[in-house]
Amino acid sequence: MKAIRVHEFGGPEVLKLEEVPDPQPGPGQVVVRVHAAGVNPVDAYIRTGTYAFKPNLPYTPGSDAGGVVLSVGLDVKQWKAGDRVYTFGASSGTYAEQAVCNQSQVRRLPANASFEQGAAIGVPYGTAYRGLFQRGNAKPAETVLVHGASGGVGIAAVQLARAVGMTVIGTAGSERGMQLVKDQGAHHVLNHSSDDYLDELMKLTDGRGVDIIVELLANKNLGKDLTALAKKGRVMVIGSRGAVEINPRDAMGREADIRGVTLVATTETEYGEMHAALIAGLTVGTLRPIIGQEIPLAEAARAHQEVMKPSGAHGKIVLKP
Ligand code: NAP
Repeated sequence: MKAIRVHEFGGPEVLKLEEVPDPQPGPGQVVVRVHAAGVNPVDAYIRTGTYAFKPNLPYTPGSDAGGVVLSVGLDVKQWKAGDRVYTFGASSGTYAEQAVCNQSQVRRLPANASFEQGAAIGVPYGTAYRGLFQRGNAKPAETVLVHGASGGVGIAAVQLARAVGMTVIGTAGSERGMQLVKDQGAHHVLNHSSDDYLDELMKLTDGRGVDIIVELLANKNLGKDLTALAKKGRVMVIGSRGAVEINPRDAMGREADIRGVTLVATTETEYGEMHAALIAGLTVGTLRPIIGQEIPLAEAARAHQEVMKPSGAHGKIVLKP
């Protein structure tokens, strides 16, 4: 089969398409025929070799995919060849025609979701769910600012928050991104590249501020976030690409919380709850992953350039084997 292989850490050019042996499932594993693989920023961080998690070389990147079960290990009872699934982890990497997954890293893909949408669930929807509900304790009738709502995680957060009855304010950096965020259910959309958008946010909330901020670029925004929170508000730090200065008094006066979010810290029980909720939302239609770009597997390097562009996000980037 064909797979992207990384033999040395570095820039996008180290992603090479190669012919490798077809994988075989071990005990407790399934092999998935990948129809689409999700491209996440973390795949690009790992590729550089400077990220906290450093795989042994060579490796195939990717954790998320939509596809069909090809074969199962001897002791696997839950899955059979032909099942439509999405993955949220893979021992062999999903940037390939086939991926080996532990049976617990696979869930049934609802019939109304495409394979491309299946590839957009694992990291983005899992992280948005964890940030809002498992770490953020988000409640119906609260107001949330999704700070960076036009990308994979942001769109998921908008749809999840809207579905439980929150008031949703989303931001994007382009007109196209703003329209997308509006179309996905945000009550209000602001442009995070304009100077006065947080003044507008205070007007929208009658000067009160928001209960929760889902923060996708904390190194730019955390200081201002603390001034946009209501009393007892919390900032969920999901994305950050550097250091930032804050004024701790902005948190003191509001008794505000800054909470980190890491998808990989999710427990088995929490994963069970998370994916039950995500599958329910996909099935009834409140969750609808948006695919911005489909890129051939052979052009994985271009996909990594695209996912690291500083602005212009428009949903999810997926690779097509
Ligand atoms: P993505 O699809 O590339 O989206 C990036 C988002 O950031 C876009 O909505 C973009 O908006 C927005 N953005 C750009 N400039 C911004 C600004 N000044 N203020 C606020 N937002 C801004 O990436 P993603 O998959 O959604 O991931 C987003 C971040 O979360 C990444 O840093 C990723 O590494 C991180 N993440 C963390 C975890 C975790 O476990 N903690 C899990 C998943 C992702 P425009 O393009 O419209 O400007």
